[in-house]
Amino acid sequence: MHHGSCLCGAVSFAVTAAPQGPSVCHCGQCRKQSGHLWASAYVAMADLSISGTVKWYAASATAKRGFCPSCGSFLFWKAHAEDTMSFALGALDGPTGITVEKHIFVADKGDYYDIADGVPQKD
Ligand SMILES: [Zn+2]
Repeated sequence: MHHGSCLCGAVSFAVTAAPQGPSVCHCGQCRKQSGHLWASAYVAMADLSISGTVKWYAASATAKRGFCPSCGSFLFWKAHAEDTMSFALGALDGPTGITVEKHIFVADKGDYYDIADGVPQKD
């Protein structure tokens, strides 16, 4: 069981299954929305319960991005075609026991930092 929340606490969530695919995303959308990059993992929708009102932004035709309307914390990413939801690892109350498994959309990463943690990278 993991618990997380936004910065102000208006939105909180509980994860009741083992988080899958912990990754750091360097895509342009995650960079813009988070201010840098976005670390997340996912579970089946049935294993994620959300309290509070999430504001959803349809960043593309295939997915939506959820954030707290009060403080702006970027908390969730949901592909319309999948029955899973990604949640922000940075929003979890620690310790989490989770280890990032990969960097994704590395081809879109900013030029102002290097990825040097030895974790596998995917373009
Ligand atoms: Zn908030």
